[in-house]
Amino acid sequence: MNTENINDCVIIGSGPSGFTAAIYAARADLKPKVFTGLQPGGQLTTTTEVDNFPGYPNGVTGPEMMMDLQKQAERFDTEVFYEMITKVEFSKERGGIHKLWAGDREILAKTVIISTGATAKYLGLEDEKKYAGGGVSACATCDGFFYKGKEVIVVGAGDTAAEEATYLSNLCSKVTMLVRRDEFRASKAMVNRVLKTPNIEVKFHHELIGIEGENSLVEKAVVINNQTKETSTIPVHGIFIAIGHQPNTEVFKGQITTDENGYIVTEKGSTRTNLPGVFAAGDVQDHIYRQAITAAGSGCMAAMDAERYLESLKAEEMEA
Ligand code: NDP
Repeated sequence: MNTENINDCVIIGSGPSGFTAAIYAARADLKPKVFTGLQPGGQLTTTTEVDNFPGYPNGVTGPEMMMDLQKQAERFDTEVFYEMITKVEFSKERGGIHKLWAGDREILAKTVIISTGATAKYLGLEDEKKYAGGGVSACATCDGFFYKGKEVIVVGAGDTAAEEATYLSNLCSKVTMLVRRDEFRASKAMVNRVLKTPNIEVKFHHELIGIEGENSLVEKAVVINNQTKETSTIPVHGIFIAIGHQPNTEVFKGQITTDENGYIVTEKGSTRTNLPGVFAAGDVQDHIYRQAITAAGSGCMAAMDAERYLESLKAEEMEA
C-alpha cells in the first residue's frame, strides 16, 4: 500500500453535515476530500426558501445556502469531487486503513465521515414532480409556514405523518390526513393527539391519486376511497407526503451497524459508529430531527471525533 496516498479524512456526502464536517476537518488540517454523490448539496437543493437556518435573517434558498457552505469549506483546505462512492471496504482494526472506490479509482483513508443523508419517499405520482416547490413537500417544519391559515393534506399514517399533521394544525386552518388502511401505524400517544386535534380530519381508506392546480401551484388534491373506489377532490394549497424516509446506506450494507430501518447506529452523544475511524453525521444517522441545523451540528461533531481519533492514534504510536 502506498502510504503517501492515504488521506486523513474522506467525507461522503455534500449536504449540511458533509460540508460542516469539511469546514471543521479542514481547519484541523486534515485536508478533507468530499465526495458529493449524485445530488451535490443534498436534500436542501430541492427546497426553495430556508427560513429556519440561524444566521440568515432574510432567509436563503436551499441551493444558495449549500453553495455558501461549499465555498466556506473550500476556503480552507477541502477538495471536492463530484463523484459517487460506489464501493467501500471498511477496516475493522483500530488504526486500519479504509478503502473506498469512486468507480475504478481506489481511495484510502484513515477516517471516513459518512454523511450521505436520507431521501424522502414519495408516492411516485407524476403530479408530485409537477407541483414540487408549488405546494408538494415532504417536510412540514421546513415548508409549513408557507401555508399559514390555509388548508393542507398530509399523506401517511406513521409517526412522521402524525407529527407533521399536529405541527401543521397549529399553523393551518385545516389538515386532512389521508390514511390508506383503516388504522394508523403511528404510536398510540401520537394517534391520540391527532384524533383530539379539532382541525385535523382523518380520512381512512383514502389515497392521493392526483393533483390539480394552475401555474404549478396546488389547488386541489384528487383522492380515492380504496374501498368504494369513489374519487373526489379536496381544495388545498399544500400537500405533505409523510410516508417515510430511506437512509442512503445501500453502499455500506453488511459492513456497518444499522438499525432495522437502515439508519447507521452511532454511540449516544457522539458520531462514532461500530467501526474505528468511521463516523456518521446528519440524516443518515438521525430519523428524528432531520433538520439542516442539526445535520450541520453533527457534521461538526464528526470532524472533531475524527480529529481526536487521529490524535489518539498518534499518542499511542509515540508511547509504543
Ligand atoms: P413509517 O414507515 O413508520 O410509516 C410510513 C407510513 O406511510 C405508514 O403508515 C404507511 O402506511 C404509509 N405509507 C407508505 N407508503 C404509502 C403509500 N404509497 N401511500 C399511502 N401511505 C403510505 O415511517 P415514519 O417516517 O412515520 O417513521 C419512521 C421511523 O421513525 C419509525 O420507527 C417511527 O416510529 C420513527 N419516528 C419517530 C418519531 C418520534 O418518536 N417523535 C417521529 C417520526 C418518526 P401503512 O401503515 O399502511 O404501511
